[in-house]
Amino acid sequence: QSNSTNTVIEKTNQFGANNYHPLPIVIEKAEGVWVTDPEGNRYMDMLSAYSALNQGHRHPKIIDALMNQAQAVTLTSRAFYSVTLGEWYEKLCALTGKNMVLPMNTGAEAVETAIKAARRWAYDVKGVPDNQAQIVGCQGNFHGRTLAAVSLSSEAEYQRAFGPLVPGFSLVPYGDIEALKEAITPNTAAFIVEPIQGEAGIIVPPAGYLKAAFELCKENNVLFIADEIQTGLARTGKLFAYEWEGITPDVLILGKALGGGVFPISAVVANEDILGVFNPGSHGSTFGGNPLACAVSIASLDVIEEEKLVERSQELGEYFMEQLRTIEHPAIKEVRGRGLFIGLELTEAARPYCEKLAEKRILCKETHYNIIRFAPPLVISKEDLDWAIEQIKDVFK
Ligand code: PLP
Repeated sequence: QSNSTNTVIEKTNQFGANNYHPLPIVIEKAEGVWVTDPEGNRYMDMLSAYSALNQGHRHPKIIDALMNQAQAVTLTSRAFYSVTLGEWYEKLCALTGKNMVLPMNTGAEAVETAIKAARRWAYDVKGVPDNQAQIVGCQGNFHGRTLAAVSLSSEAEYQRAFGPLVPGFSLVPYGDIEALKEAITPNTAAFIVEPIQGEAGIIVPPAGYLKAAFELCKENNVLFIADEIQTGLARTGKLFAYEWEGITPDVLILGKALGGGVFPISAVVANEDILGVFNPGSHGSTFGGNPLACAVSIASLDVIEEEKLVERSQELGEYFMEQLRTIEHPAIKEVRGRGLFIGLELTEAARPYCEKLAEKRILCKETHYNIIRFAPPLVISKEDLDWAIEQIKDVFK
């Protein structure tokens, strides 16, 4: 009984910092869309580690890549070249249509990197006076937990007692193009935006907003930075969510599913006129672009293509949303999203519903008090999805 759910939770809570509020479920094993607890109960994963598991748990091709690379070399540091890094760069450039990549490990680090790139671009290329560069973000954003990312946030709790915060950021309401127009000054380096706001509760901006924002940036020589850490890599029914509006951002930030839920890897992707501002000594990371991460990421990108996860996400997502919209329940306010990136907004607390869903063997997590996010691995079968829909309908009976 040393690994029962209760002993695991007790030990975790006894020694760990209290910065999360998990559901009382222990995941001991996982495969595809299914996870198992120490007592052998099976659950369907409808969170996908905040969209890091688009390819499903332990995809065999990705695990193979991990094991094979582990037999060759795991870490070179960037003091030397590795076999996998260039190959991964090439693949990512082909996928995004850009010509330069900067590798990091976590999403927040990639956001930091994009901010540094935008600031340096502002001084070295655009000609903004020293230390005057401004970056505009959106209210309700989530770009991670580093000091720069929380300085850019509009959430009081993300910032409380962490000051002094990083200066040089301003915020505009998400979806408000006039506000963005007013916020841009000659010192504006970049506009950073999530094409769909994830942590805010799957907020889809008004049609045409991203395109108008992109054009506004072009008119004002401002970089358009898309944070696709959560929306990218097939989650929304396109490879990248910005495709929904037919734009190509200047800077693209990727993370999460870039490592297939197996190994952390993130990236900033852009053209040389922007990422070329970095020179040796200006930025780096010991583990950034390491061989294990690159081998895993190459396989993770292959899986998205080979298993047609873009199409699956779009088709199954539409079906899922249609089904959710047939539920009549006084607490349901709205069903929204794109692809398998779906928010169910309630008129009351979402946590009790997540607890009831867990009793029905569906794992999901509330976001912002009253919203349930449904984001299963994109490899989910129609049959499994139908089973999930039945359970959800049962909870909202
Ligand atoms: N940006 C977005 C849009 C995210 O959703 C997240 C994580 O949820 C991050 C950045 C931060 O990524 P990480 O937790 O890997 O630092």
